[in-house]
Amino acid sequence: MLKDYFEKLYTGSQSDFFALADGAMDREERLFVVTANPEVMMIAQGDPALDAVLCAPSATIVPDGIGVVKAARGLGLELPGRVTGVELAWELIRHAGETGRRVYLYGAKEEVLQALAARVAREAPGALLVGAKNGYDHEDDEVFRDVLAQRPDVVLVALGVPRQELLIARWLERFDKGIFVGVGGSFDVLSGAKQRAPELFLRLNLEWLYRITKEPKRFGRFFRSNLHFLGKVRAIGRLDGR
Ligand code: UDP
Repeated sequence: MLKDYFEKLYTGSQSDFFALADGAMDREERLFVVTANPEVMMIAQGDPALDAVLCAPSATIVPDGIGVVKAARGLGLELPGRVTGVELAWELIRHAGETGRRVYLYGAKEEVLQALAARVAREAPGALLVGAKNGYDHEDDEVFRDVLAQRPDVVLVALGVPRQELLIARWLERFDKGIFVGVGGSFDVLSGAKQRAPELFLRLNLEWLYRITKEPKRFGRFFRSNLHFLGKVRAIGRLDGR
């Protein structure tokens, strides 16, 4: 349920979360991160399988969307701001580069993936890219059999919600280490294929507006899920005990 997602939402700063995730990588622990915006939470409301994944203790939920940050504050939680999937993905690659760790990338178009692989080689040359498979020409479980065999320290899955989360959740127990993140359209941004919102939009928490102007087809989906989300969050009232 929606309330459960907020009960377990990460409420620290983005830099604290980076330190937490990098530390988990250093200690070879297993960590599954769900980067949540209102759309993700609303999809989970209508999808029992995704709902179960979000509620499971193995999933850590971070507030990727400003809508989630604002809703959480409305529920009485104190949190400094967003923890974005795009920035988390790059931080994990960067840290893997510094510490010589193994990275597996799955998802996005082949040319996007190749551009990102080239950027990793250039800017995080210490990272060992043990797998890079596009999200269109492969079968998910087939890819994850290979992911398992490669024993990566970082696994970034860019297939969109809920496919990426359900896939990670289905396989998670079989891994004894690895930082797993469903990163949505992040490869498109990190590769340079798509531009991220200009700094001013980011500062004013208007990245969502920028994305809608770039991709107007998102508008209907965005509007509907955010309206529903607002209504449902209001119905929760306030969270006690946090
Ligand atoms: N994608 C993919 N295979 C598919 C459908 C989508 O690899 O069959 C990729 C797509 O190229 C994009 C990402 O999944 O890089 C999803 O991006 P989108 O911005 O739609 O996801 P969101 O961030 O909104 O969840």
